[in-house]
Amino acid sequence: MSKAKILIPKIFPTSRDRINGYDAVYAEVLKEGVPGLSEVRAIALAGQQKIGEAELELMPKLELIAKFGVGYDSVDVDAASRRNIVVTNTPDVLTDEVADLALGLLIAAVRRIPQAERFLREGRWRNGETFPLSPSLRGLKAGIVGLGRIGEAIAQRLRGMNMEVVYCNRRQKPGCDLEYYADLTQMAADVQVLIVATPGGGETDKLISREVIAALGQHGTLVNIARGTVVDEDALVEALKNGRLLAAGLDVFAKEPKVPDDLLQLDNVVLLPHVGSGAIKTRQDMGDLVFDNLDSWFAGRGAITPVR
Ligand code: NAP
Repeated sequence: MSKAKILIPKIFPTSRDRINGYDAVYAEVLKEGVPGLSEVRAIALAGQQKIGEAELELMPKLELIAKFGVGYDSVDVDAASRRNIVVTNTPDVLTDEVADLALGLLIAAVRRIPQAERFLREGRWRNGETFPLSPSLRGLKAGIVGLGRIGEAIAQRLRGMNMEVVYCNRRQKPGCDLEYYADLTQMAADVQVLIVATPGGGETDKLISREVIAALGQHGTLVNIARGTVVDEDALVEALKNGRLLAAGLDVFAKEPKVPDDLLQLDNVVLLPHVGSGAIKTRQDMGDLVFDNLDSWFAGRGAITPVR
């Protein structure tokens, strides 16, 4: 039986054996001119590569888009569905990893861990200076925007740290004992820590608006591990600059890999290069789940983790 042609980035975190089961076309960026595109039946899609009508047009034989990662806001799923193309993602296997990082960002931002480390490396401790006291997480209430798989894992960790946790989703979660807010601005006004864990895309664009940031206020800390587009970045920068927000911990940005210069200049933010799931084991598990989907699909058993 001939091997199915698939499109895959050159360095993909799964075993060579698994890739060898396919006729692989290697390309980092999907665009006109990549040889063999017209024969491609599936894509292992990593990064923020956009797939819309124009890209789908290049691959008339495409059956499956297997996204590496849980967020699939870069893929036009409606356009794919119209062509009977199935889209899969890699939920669950990265949940705990991303939740760990969210906690790391929160503690780093409030307790000023990177700033303290810079202070030590600069020799200032050795020279007799004392690092200023930081704010505390003790007694703070945290609000999670997007209490899904990752949001729940974050809530579990926050409760382990004896923090009170509330949440805002579009709908109340049945069986969830955390206090629910239908009104995001109201929740932001009632908490001192706001953690964003929603999907990206049009529906959540600038959900964390100027108004929400103002409600969080001068003692508030924002942590975003979702997508940069979910936060009004200009309003965030202004608030951080003018002391109308205490701090922020950000793993994601609106125009990655570009980070606004203003953010780079600020001392009250912790900035990471989108590494939420970026641990070796988890990235391998994600790569394997992409291939589990491909194998299942081409064995005629359907996709394992379709997005809808
Ligand atoms: P999930 O289980 O689908 O959870 C998403 C949650 O967001 C759901 O509970 C949903 O509840 C809520 N939600 C959706 N739209 C909302 C809105 N407008 N307002 C308030 N809540 C809303 O997804 P997950 O696995 O936890 O992943 C969440 C997101 O994390 C991904 O989509 C991705 O963008 C991001 N992520 C980032 C990294 C990283 O490296 N930083 C890694 C993995 C994932 P309702 O439907 O009830 O609103």
